[in-house]
Amino acid sequence: APIGGGVVYAELRRPCRVMILVNPHSGRGQALQLFTGHVRDMLAEAAVPHTLVITEHQNHARELVRKADLSQWDALVIMSGDGLLFEVINGLMEREDWREAIQTPLGILPGGSGNALAASVHHYSGEAEVTSAWNEELLLSCGFMLCKGLVRSMDLVSIHLASRRRLFSFLSLAWGFVSDVDVESERYRHVGAIRFLMGTLVRLASLRVYQGRLAYLPVVEAPTPARPETLACQGTAGAPEDSLLPGLDQPVPESWTVVREEDFVLVLAIYQSHLAEDLWTVPGALADDGAIHLFYVTAGISRPALLRLFLAMEKGGHLACGCPHLVYEKVKALRLEPVSPQGMITVDGEVVEYGPVQAQIHPGLARLICG
Ligand code: ADP
Ligand code: MG
Repeated sequence: APIGGGVVYAELRRPCRVMILVNPHSGRGQALQLFTGHVRDMLAEAAVPHTLVITEHQNHARELVRKADLSQWDALVIMSGDGLLFEVINGLMEREDWREAIQTPLGILPGGSGNALAASVHHYSGEAEVTSAWNEELLLSCGFMLCKGLVRSMDLVSIHLASRRRLFSFLSLAWGFVSDVDVESERYRHVGAIRFLMGTLVRLASLRVYQGRLAYLPVVEAPTPARPETLACQGTAGAPEDSLLPGLDQPVPESWTVVREEDFVLVLAIYQSHLAEDLWTVPGALADDGAIHLFYVTAGISRPALLRLFLAMEKGGHLACGCPHLVYEKVKALRLEPVSPQGMITVDGEVVEYGPVQAQIHPGLARLICG
């Protein structure tokens, strides 16, 4: 495999057969036009045969990949926002043969209003050293990566909800300010990616504090015990065991850190570099760094200080703001137990049931077209 920037890549086989899933309603409703206008000819020139599948409803893609004959496909590519990839990953993980299925290389072409993975992939490719890319420029960059067909591994995070449902996530788990903005800004989806900035300004005006308990298992550079403690919260349908997580009704293990504060403005666990096209949240992150990057902001932060953090995040400068309310930890697992009776929790930008949640990293479980 070729080596690029110290990272080992595999290559898609040639000729490769690609299924491209398009959500015609994502973003400003232009994903299909963007595909035909900017990507189709590029793929034809690079001799990348593909089959276009236009999703007809929510969870269409999830059901399709759950049942698909994956031996027919060398890659699954999503032309939408992050929400459609979330469907595809969970569809793959729901299969009996999840272990093989989740090894199918996954690609992203930004067609949504929330294109965090596309922005991250562009960043990992090294093209983003100087500037980040938006809109057509980001689309072309991701289209070019698809033509190159380099593949590397990507961490997934398994997420347990109070109903005992388990989800797989490739991007983020958010509570408080970030998830509120994500959901409330849906109503400005016609303006595209700028909806997050608009949502941020609106939310700032009605800044809320959320009560809850947060605990995590830090990443320690010291050697870990050969065998993990056998807490083994067994998931459904045989999918991978979450060896770091006790049941949600059990206390967290001794080795975990319990955060003393219980008043938060936001809690954000993220495992890619970007939260949005213009939010470079984790300067050092890689798709397969084996860590959940946990951020939280405690109550007492002023509105201007919070706005400053988000503005600084465009260039990845928020951690250098010296804000005493912002905490950053690299963790392998975490648990969040909201106490406030109402609120919003999102996973990869999608709303999930509100209540206690816990999560753990599964290093390199999936594969990503990138680089
Ligand atoms: P955006 O970034 O614009 O939000 P997403 O890819 O996140 O784009 O898609 C938004 C939502 O639409 C997701 O919840 C996804 O599951 C859902 N979805 C996917 N395909 C369709 C469809 N054909 N019709 C309606 N909703 C869809
Ligand atoms: Mg979305």
